[in-house]
Amino acid sequence: MSQILSLEHYAIHIGPIADLLSPFLRNKSYSQYFILVDENTQRDCLPILLSQIPLLQSANIIDISSGEINKNLPTCQHIWASLIEQQADRKSLIINLGGGVIGDMGGFVASTYKRGIDFIQIPTTLLSQVDASIGGKLGIDFMDLKNIIGLFNNPQGVFIDIAFLKTLPFREIRSGYAEILKHALIADANYWQKLTTIQDLSSVQWEEIILASLQIKKQVVEADPFEKGYRKVLNFGHTIGHAIESWSLKHDTKPLLHGEAIALGMIVETELSCLHQSLSLSAKEEIQDQIKALYPKYTVSVDIFKELIVLMKNDKKNETDLINFTLLADIGESAYNVELSAVIVKDVLEILV
Ligand code: NAD
Repeated sequence: MSQILSLEHYAIHIGPIADLLSPFLRNKSYSQYFILVDENTQRDCLPILLSQIPLLQSANIIDISSGEINKNLPTCQHIWASLIEQQADRKSLIINLGGGVIGDMGGFVASTYKRGIDFIQIPTTLLSQVDASIGGKLGIDFMDLKNIIGLFNNPQGVFIDIAFLKTLPFREIRSGYAEILKHALIADANYWQKLTTIQDLSSVQWEEIILASLQIKKQVVEADPFEKGYRKVLNFGHTIGHAIESWSLKHDTKPLLHGEAIALGMIVETELSCLHQSLSLSAKEEIQDQIKALYPKYTVSVDIFKELIVLMKNDKKNETDLINFTLLADIGESAYNVELSAVIVKDVLEILV
């Protein structure tokens, strides 16, 4: 059964891709289609898309190398150059077929090519299906800082088919699940309780969970589309998580995935929530135990605390010398714009040593 979540400027369609996308494309008159893929989505997702939507068989394919490490300016230049070489005009459509990296970067490229052409998101990872593909945040990493260059712009539509998840490696499923846990923690205690009953991520029926998470994200981004205030609740786990992710990308031979870093960020920011907000000790332990049971241990050396603090201060969410956090007042209740000093943050990072 297909479902539609309507936002002010576009809709999120959830169901079989053929049912969702064909009517959308028939109603538009695009001059050319460009499908952005990486080597994994080219192998696992593109054949499904092309077999289900014959109209796309003549589409131009633009391929990039997968991974956060490639969410950067040189990759954008490659995409812009491909668009120019293949004479994409202002009536062209870019179809982002992939995870959050493809969605964020493909949307950014589309929004800046010829001052902006249409794009749609076909998210193929759990993380992008529940989070990255909606809310209009687009961009790339630059000078070791995550998502530091970008803009807000909406796609013409988001098309979510859980069939794409069949080929997604377990580590990527677990990474996406971190954003699902975050949605529950910031907004819905009952949803959190439901998630705590899940023991095995490899046997979950995702459709219901994706819908529940999308509803939380939709409610937040509609209330504050440009992150003037309330939308910052979505940053729970991200101030510390982004810093650790950036550090890991630069130094680890097998870097942390986005959701893995956010899981670590949530462990530390839960500690801060107990110390500097009203989160109870028992709730803190419940959250941390749940996350630790799912994600592999990752230790952080005291020697890198200083570097992590610099990364946190440079994070675009921080406008002053203090570090800006979204913390939990309780399970399902968040507090944003909590400013804490570097000394406090360093102290609490000790729990990762
Ligand atoms: P990703 O885009 O790197 O994809 C993960 C991996 O899975 C890649 O290797 C990809 O090739 C592969 N893959 C994708 N779909 C597949 C499939 N169906 N089968 C097999 N392999 C597949 O990572 P992600 O976790 O989807 O996204 C992380 C990115 O999203 C980060 O850059 C993060 O900053 C961003 N993000 C953005 C927002 C937002 O609001 N815009 C929100 C959260 C995260």
